[in-house]
Amino acid sequence: MAQLIDGKAVSAAVKAEVAEETAKLRDEKGLKVGLAVVIVGNDPASRVYVNNKKKACEAVGFQSYEYALDETTTQEQLLDLVNVLNRDDRVNGILVQLPLPKHIDEKAVINAISPDKDVDAFHPINVGKIMIGEYSFLPCTPAGVMRLIESTGTDITGKQCVVIGRSNIVGKPQAMLLLQKNGTVTICHSKTKNLKEICLGADILVVAIGRANFVTGDMIKEGAVVIDVGMNRLENGKLCGDVEFESAEKKASFITPVPGGVGPMTIAMLMKNTLTAAKQQAGIE
Ligand code: NAP
Repeated sequence: MAQLIDGKAVSAAVKAEVAEETAKLRDEKGLKVGLAVVIVGNDPASRVYVNNKKKACEAVGFQSYEYALDETTTQEQLLDLVNVLNRDDRVNGILVQLPLPKHIDEKAVINAISPDKDVDAFHPINVGKIMIGEYSFLPCTPAGVMRLIESTGTDITGKQCVVIGRSNIVGKPQAMLLLQKNGTVTICHSKTKNLKEICLGADILVVAIGRANFVTGDMIKEGAVVIDVGMNRLENGKLCGDVEFESAEKKASFITPVPGGVGPMTIAMLMKNTLTAAKQQAGIE
């Protein structure tokens, strides 16, 4: 039976590290850390995410600046705000909550954020830096996954790593990070043939598809580390992952639950990126 990877505990440890360093920077160098969170429209899920980010900022000792814009905000108005925040010294990190209303081009907005303040690591410059291994920020979810794998004591070097999903925010950067840690990485997607056989070869399996209970125990190698990034809302309102937990935990050595696995890590890594941004802007790192 698999050991549970406790995302809440690991994320609390990351946030505690950030809080400690933030307090030290404030006391010793008079440095304050600020994160601007921009939300456009009234999407209830986005609202919850933004509130959680604000709470996390308070908990680690950051200033948070919220900009809640009306659904009818134009792209030009949003770009103007991003430019103001790029120049605002109180703001070390800028996060524009996605998705944006359909009339706004997300790419144009992401590209407008100064790469130094791009704590989501979505800007093409930061994406490129991840490819060459010279990054300041890592995208929060894949970075959180790496921290969870690390928490199991697993050495990634030489391991067969399989990532299911090739999105720009999870699958692709995840594969790159595992590669940088010397994993032998296979990326699978909706056109992959023999998915089951490929998964059965995985020592480390990261699943980021967005399909409830898609990966079942018979697709998992005995003793594998299984990380479930998926967050799917069932008809009964319950949250579930992309991995069928009951059958998978019988095969895995370590497994993340949903909720309580990868989810809590994403915000913790955002806090870590914001602290890194503040230190870099102050010339400390
Ligand atoms: P996405 O952009 O929709 O990408 C899904 C990926 O899964 C695509 O690459 C797709 O392949 C692949 N896929 C879909 N069906 C498949 C199948 N039957 N077999 C193999 N691959 C398949 O999703 P995402 O943004 O990466 O998110 C993935 C999941 O993670 C979602 O449930 C999301 O809610 C969750 N998530 C969680 C967090 C967190 O903080 N816990 C953060 C981000 C995302 P193609 O490219 O061929 O279409």
